[in-house]
Amino acid sequence: MFSYISHISEHVQRLTGQLHKLLGPPGSPCLTCGTRAVLSSRYPGICSRCVQQIPWIRSIRCQRCGRGVGCPDCVRPHMQNRSFFCNRSAVQYNDLMKDWISMYKFRGYERYAPLLTAMLTQAFQAMSEELTLICEKETGKPLWRPDAVTYVPVSDERLAERGFNQAERLATELAITAGLPCVDLLQRQINTGKQSFKSRAERFETMKHAFSIKLDEFDFSLLKNYSKPFKLLLIDDIYTTGSTLDACGHVILHAASKAGVTVEIYTLTLARS
Ligand SMILES: [Zn+2]
Ligand SMILES: [Zn+2]
Repeated sequence: MFSYISHISEHVQRLTGQLHKLLGPPGSPCLTCGTRAVLSSRYPGICSRCVQQIPWIRSIRCQRCGRGVGCPDCVRPHMQNRSFFCNRSAVQYNDLMKDWISMYKFRGYERYAPLLTAMLTQAFQAMSEELTLICEKETGKPLWRPDAVTYVPVSDERLAERGFNQAERLATELAITAGLPCVDLLQRQINTGKQSFKSRAERFETMKHAFSIKLDEFDFSLLKNYSKPFKLLLIDDIYTTGSTLDACGHVILHAASKAGVTVEIYTLTLARS
């Protein structure tokens, strides 16, 4: 008799458990807020509430650096000689984006990679559409499309510490999605330390000598027979003052001009601070 009752109670428990599962919130836990929900098909791992919170830069106020707000930076004298044609960024670097990027970059949460890549890819598509319009207007050429993608390198020390270069990962994934070659072009000669504690002028000064071309990796003279300027898209995770991207760009332009080749540099970052 006792075993009969316990059997029934077990059965009831199992049934209630299944019922709870059926009636409980559907889906899986959101990567960024943890809420159980149906996850976005476009932005891997996150719920629709988190999708709505992505601070996209939709209207560009500064054509040069791609800022969505008024920009006093690009009119400064030392910015006139910048190595890149223009920068575009996917989102504003607010606290939420700081959190997402840090989870990936510093804490190594691999699951953030597809989400961040999807965001960068969307910005690349918007950038392509925008620059195609400008190209059509100015030169009559139908399409803006980079010939290759490259990225801002990190020092060996930083690489050993983090185990990966987030800019390289983003660039590689974007290149695959866009069907473009990704070239391993630059190396970081010195570890510049935490840039965030430095003034704008100090950042530019430190960055001047921070990068060089990986000579054994890329031969610019191979591009000699290229009839038009070679368009290179340079990727990084965050644009703050632009000094890092600018320094990388100058190194590339210098190497290209020494080889007698014309290169046009465009930059794309995940976030714009
Ligand atoms: Zn969420
Ligand atoms: Zn600007």
